[in-house]
Amino acid sequence: MAIQRTFSIIKPDATRRNLTGAINAKIEAAGLRIVAQKRIHMTPAQAGQFYAVHKERPFYGELCEFMASAPVVVQVLEGENAIAKYREVMGATDPAAADAGTIRKEFALSKGENSVHGSDAPETAAEEIAYFFAGIELVG
Ligand code: GDP
Repeated sequence: MAIQRTFSIIKPDATRRNLTGAINAKIEAAGLRIVAQKRIHMTPAQAGQFYAVHKERPFYGELCEFMASAPVVVQVLEGENAIAKYREVMGATDPAAADAGTIRKEFALSKGENSVHGSDAPETAAEEIAYFFAGIELVG
């Protein structure tokens, strides 16, 4: 499997509880390298555009409001099979269903406030990285 890049967000519930370092430790322990990272505070419109794919879902408004409620840390992670590997490290969307040792099992508060986002496919990873980062900011 080739080296891949994936896009990650440490969400407001986690930044509020000062968990950026603890989450980064899990990312790095899994063999993923953080090749870009910055802390931003999204507007509801920016969050809405990022999550546009979920526009028709009943929780869309709540999700956008949550993502704009406090700073987030946006990241690009690099490694072997990075997209699937990070999804594994994150755990299931609902922390109650997440495997032991995953980020969401250890840190998430609920299905909505679930501490991290990770891309689900190569196309979305490329789009999501380009939404937040310029090429010159990715330092592998
Ligand atoms: P993910 O790929 O595991 O992040 O999950 P999804 O793509 O299905 O959902 C995107 C995000 O929407 C999740 O990470 C949650 O933050 C949020 N979300 C999903 N389901 C619910 C829900 O039932 N209620 C609320 N409030 N948020 C949800």
